[in-house]
Amino acid sequence: MEEELLFRVIIVGDSGVGKSCLLLRFSENTFNEQHTVTIGVEFGTKLVKINNQQVKLQIWDTAGQESFRSITRSFYRRADGVLLVYDVNSKESFEGLSYWLGEIRQHATSDIVIFLVGNQVDLTESENSREVSQDDANAYKNFHNLCGFKETSALSGFNVNETFHEFTNILYERWN
Ligand code: GDP
Ligand code: MG
Repeated sequence: MEEELLFRVIIVGDSGVGKSCLLLRFSENTFNEQHTVTIGVEFGTKLVKINNQQVKLQIWDTAGQESFRSITRSFYRRADGVLLVYDVNSKESFEGLSYWLGEIRQHATSDIVIFLVGNQVDLTESENSREVSQDDANAYKNFHNLCGFKETSALSGFNVNETFHEFTNILYERWN
């Protein structure tokens, strides 16, 4: 029997950027209007096919609240990759990335793979509310040696599958 490949991925970023919605869109292809506060850490599992091989992604969705940060930290150590999420309509959430990067650098293994995601891109068209340009995000990605960057919409589903597939591909190449 072929050995099953399992990657553990953790989703981090400020509260409200859409981490839980991204996971819901990817794992169940649905969207939740409500902002349901994530308690501690929740997870979803999804199979992704890479090079004709089944890869299991175990995705941990974290809560941003201060009181859960010590729980979150214990998950960094076991993670293979991190999805680092901000909201393209919130400069504050983009500036908040440095906190999360600090946490990752401090608590995860040094070879962890980090993928940058700018979510809620649907709003930039309907409400012209963009506060973070793609150029700035790309510069950030390059400066901090992150493995990839994509803009997504958990609402419409835009780029969500693409993001997880590209990320899984990178994990596969790195760890297989
Ligand atoms: P989390 O705290 O990072 O887990 O954020 P949530 O996933 O709970 O989402 C916070 C809020 O943003 C909710 O009201 C969602 O409906 C909304 N939201 C999440 N993703 C998107 C998106 O891609 N587009 C839009 N327009 N709203 C989103
Ligand atoms: Mg959440």
